[in-house]
Amino acid sequence: MSERQRLAEMIGEARRVVVFTGAGISTESGIPDFRSPGGVWSRMSPIYFQEFVASEEKRRESWERTFSRKAGWTGASPNVGHYAVARLVASGKASAVITQNVDNLHQDSGVPASQVIELHGNASYATCLDCGLRHELEDLKALFEATGDLPACRDCGGIVKVATISFGQSMPTLPMLRSEAEAQACDLFIVLGSSLVVYPAAGFPALAQRSGARLAIVNREPTDQDVLADLVVHDEIGAVMSSVVPAD
Ligand code: ZN
Repeated sequence: MSERQRLAEMIGEARRVVVFTGAGISTESGIPDFRSPGGVWSRMSPIYFQEFVASEEKRRESWERTFSRKAGWTGASPNVGHYAVARLVASGKASAVITQNVDNLHQDSGVPASQVIELHGNASYATCLDCGLRHELEDLKALFEATGDLPACRDCGGIVKVATISFGQSMPTLPMLRSEAEAQACDLFIVLGSSLVVYPAAGFPALAQRSGARLAIVNREPTDQDVLADLVVHDEIGAVMSSVVPAD
């Protein structure tokens, strides 16, 4: 039996699947892996959360990066891998998609936002750091370009920031708790395109296994956790997932 057939069989036998995605699923949409040589942090240094809050100059630099899309995190389209994951959710087989990505491509491919758990936030919109109100980037950009003023909350005047989790910012509590609950409730945990090195997120596969789930890893390169997995596929995610979860 081929690896793809085995993965299809594992999905068929599962009652509740959780999909965990990393940069690898989105590199196939042209978004560079932020840790790779062409990735954003090889081209510019990150602005830490504390710097953003403390310094108007850093906030200006950060917004200029965002509005020029320098980081390359947004503006791409979902690929066949995202759509295969969306079919898995739409069929009722997968209960949630846990993602390390900030590109909104799972939502763009049709996964309901309520079923996407974002560990590192989302780069496609902004929120007020004080009251949490959502702000759209296009509105903030138009105002910034017209006035030169830094974005501020239209409700409370607070500091507005892109909704990603920045360096120096703690992991978001609710998504972490939801991810733990999903890992414990599933009977198949599928990792797509994550090298599984960044903790605490990289602990979810083992947590799922301890709770009785099978573990499948699809990644182009070997990962540290391949030894734990019931199935490992070293291949392109889009090709594998569109063959394993075919469109009708
Ligand atoms: Zn506010």
